[in-house]
Amino acid sequence: MKKFLLLLLVFLAPILAFYTSPAQNSGKIKYVFLFIGDGMGTNQVFLTEKFNELTKAEPLIFMNNKWSFGLATTECADSNKITDSGAGGTAIACGERTSYGNIGENKGNALESIAEFLHTKKNFKVGIITSVPLTHATPASFYGHEPTRRNYDNLTNDLIESGFEFFAGGGFQFGNADSNKKIYKDFDAVIMKLKENNFLPIFNHVMFDSLTVKGNQRVILIDTAIRNSQMLLKNVYSEEKNSLPFALDFPEYKMQLAQYTEEAQNFLMNDRGFFIMVEGGKIDWACHDNDALTAIYEINAFNEAIKKSYDFYLKHPKNTLIIITADHETGGMALGTGEDENSPSKVNKYALYVNKLRQQKKSYIFTSSDLLAKIQEEAQIGWTTDEHTSAPVGVWAIGKGCEHFSGIIKNSDIKGKILKLVK
Ligand SMILES: [Zn+2]
Repeated sequence: MKKFLLLLLVFLAPILAFYTSPAQNSGKIKYVFLFIGDGMGTNQVFLTEKFNELTKAEPLIFMNNKWSFGLATTECADSNKITDSGAGGTAIACGERTSYGNIGENKGNALESIAEFLHTKKNFKVGIITSVPLTHATPASFYGHEPTRRNYDNLTNDLIESGFEFFAGGGFQFGNADSNKKIYKDFDAVIMKLKENNFLPIFNHVMFDSLTVKGNQRVILIDTAIRNSQMLLKNVYSEEKNSLPFALDFPEYKMQLAQYTEEAQNFLMNDRGFFIMVEGGKIDWACHDNDALTAIYEINAFNEAIKKSYDFYLKHPKNTLIIITADHETGGMALGTGEDENSPSKVNKYALYVNKLRQQKKSYIFTSSDLLAKIQEEAQIGWTTDEHTSAPVGVWAIGKGCEHFSGIIKNSDIKGKILKLVK
């Protein structure tokens, strides 16, 4: 009898192991990374590749055929079709196209974001990371529900009420566009409210260690070293406060988004799963000012964050999905503005002089607009607007099922495609 039981156990062990650890064996996607390069058109990405080639820097981790590739259309629900980051972020996060400036809403109806769905229905942990304020349109689209992106105080409350476990990025914005009454007086008032709501605010991420977090405390990382360095430069850099500094101006912060991403994946790691959204928010800011080199540096910093998730993917290849896209293109960037062959000056015909960008040392904040325009002209980089365009954007993906993100898709298809792979 003993022998029989032993034999039975030997036979049952592999079957039991299979059923008792479905997470390890099912091959279901349970670790999802969604990277959004704000304003990152395909030309911006290609130009970064050319610049990296020239400077002998590493190629972008996602610009090779290990990743699936597709194009996403980015139009919003309005007749002008050109989106902002509110409607663009909402389409990606919530799977529905809405009007310009809406956050997680369409015609007054709240939409459920992918982060909210995975958090409440699948018990996934959620991390939201950005290089711009945490109340900015793109990150807010994953936790907020407001008719206008400028209801910052309400969005702060939405962030607190989301229940999400991890936030990292710039600071907060204040006030509500649809009311004169301020909910939060200043940054300290927000921090106090966060603490009352089980958040552990951490101002020096270098000290961050998940052991410092007690029980079910939530974490918010806002690096005061960055805030202080920006305060010192207040006069020239004031518009930039509450965001990470441009990597071109402050090379020591090039790895900041990457560190936040790594800290998030360590902190949120659990057997149920996690969803992490990382926004490279200042690619858009550089392109609004038609500053190609600053955009390149921001894309390279964004790439460092993607590399952290790629390392994670290599350790958990069966269960990890990484998607990289943009909410829209900014600036209408053209590569090569040379004259045609019949033009009297044939010097610049059909060329792109990426090397000319190397004469620029600092971002548009520290460079005169005349010099900036001259550099773009010499490099033959054209800009058709200082606003957004309706150009489609790239979608790169890796992980089981990544091929579903290839071809021509809509920004609002991304949520459903992720959910199909998670279920
Ligand atoms: Zn923009």
